Formats: sequence, C-alpha cells, structure tokens
Amino acid sequence: MKKFIGAHVSAAGGVDNVPQRANEIGANAFALFTKNQRQWVAKPLTEEVIQRFKSECQKYSFRAEQILPHDSYLINLGAPELDKLEKSRAAFIDEMERSQQLGLTLLNFHPGSHLKKLSESDCLDRIAESINLAHQQVPDVIAVIENTAGQGTNLGWRFEHLAHIIDKVEDKSRVGVCLDTCHTFTAGYDLRTKEACEHTFAEFDRIVGMHYLRAMHLNDSKIPLGGKVDRHHSLGKGEIGWACFEYIMQDARFDSIPLILETIEPAIWGDEIQQLRHFTTNC
Ligand SMILES: [Zn+2]
Ligand SMILES: [Zn+2]
Repeated sequence: MKKFIGAHVSAAGGVDNVPQRANEIGANAFALFTKNQRQWVAKPLTEEVIQRFKSECQKYSFRAEQILPHDSYLINLGAPELDKLEKSRAAFIDEMERSQQLGLTLLNFHPGSHLKKLSESDCLDRIAESINLAHQQVPDVIAVIENTAGQGTNLGWRFEHLAHIIDKVEDKSRVGVCLDTCHTFTAGYDLRTKEACEHTFAEFDRIVGMHYLRAMHLNDSKIPLGGKVDRHHSLGKGEIGWACFEYIMQDARFDSIPLILETIEPAIWGDEIQQLRHFTTNC
C-alpha cells in the first residue's frame, strides 16, 4: 500500500500503547506525542517502554516512515525573549532525542511566533537557527515544519515563510514540511475543488518544493477560506469538503508519507480511513 493513512492517536498510559490503538482503527500510519504536550519537562523514556514500543511497531508493521511524532505546544523556536528561546530549544532537543530513542526519523512541530516583539524575518531566522542547533545535538531525525493557520502572531502560514526557514537550515536533508489541510485553507490557499488543489500544490511546489513534503495532516475546517483561525472538522463536514481528500488520495506525490487525521471525532477515525482508502482504489 503506497498511502500511509492514520490518525493522531492517544498515548495515554505510555507511548508503547499507541501502535495497537492505531492498528485497531485500520491505520497504516500514526502520529503521537512522546510526552505530555502541555508540560515542559517529562520523565525520560525507560528502556522497557522503548523496547516495547519497537516490538509493538514490528508486530503491527509500522515502520519509521509511517510514524509522525508531534512536539509540545509550549515550544516557540522563534521566541523573542532569550530565556523562553533557551527553554524552547532545550525542550525541542529533548523531543528530538525521544524520537531518536524510539527509532523514529521525523519530528513534526509548529515553527514559532514573533509575539509582536520581532520582525517576521528575524523570527524566521531564529527558527532556522533553532533547527540548526538541534541538528548538531541529535543525529538522524528530520525536522518537519508544520504550516499554520496564521492565527495571532504564528508564522509559517505563508509558503514563503516555510521557504525562508528551509533556506537558512544548513542540513537540507534533515528538514521538511507537513502541510495541514485545515491550516493551509484558513491561511488562504483554496482546496475546495480539484482545480483549486492543483493550483495550491503548484504554488507550494514553486515556492517550497514538493520534495520537501514529508507528511500531511488531513483535516476539514470549521472556518472559511482565509479565516486565519485553526478549528478542525471531520472530513467532508467542514468548509473544505471531500474533493480535496479525494485529490490527495489519487495523486502519487502524496505516496509513502504519513497522512494523519487530527479530526474531531476519534470514534469515526476508522470510517474516515476507510473512506480515504476507497478513493485510492477508485483511481
Ligand atoms: Zn500541529
Ligand atoms: Zn496539524
């Protein structure tokens, strides 16, 4: 199967419980938090948990390229104040180390916010420098920048922001992008029709480059086009509609990367995954 489809599954009780939960909803990909996403510090992963996570991944046939860990929401890699920046950089390095310990190769994160205290350009430079520092500390793991909805002072909503960061990252082989369909849409890039998708992804390819696309988040949106607010909805129930997800499923450029649901009804993730798979067999 070329399409890796899954959801951001709960890690309650330990990360080693996640592969089984993903398997239960018929996923062949998953996302997870490797620590509590609303706390700065976490206990290190024990050897026992690491080994069980790896054996569970093997048992249910999840390889590293099908798994997309997401970092803590507290981290701001472009923080204007030095103490916050230091704290964020240390926490990000810890997140990268946890991914590496689990045998994973991707780490998905939100780029950062200027909080009206830095220019956009300085903040983007700072984010790139944070990635460079993490690369020096931790081998192997790819920093996967998620595009944002552009809420508040969050950067990364324009494709130009992503290109700016990538341009300043020294090791280009270890930086990539995760496009969230909800964020893309509310940032102002239309995805409602096949033609709109073609145009939006052509823009992404021109400004950033499709070869940097390492993952996607598949979410519908409660907010209209360009609304700059991040409110996910279940697939087909929001302002985007099914055409976008059908388009992604039928296009080979989205093969072999994690395609992750962060939709709002976990009880229907299994159905959403089935519907997405159905599109792949109809092409
Ligand atoms: Zn995210
Ligand atoms: Zn997302």
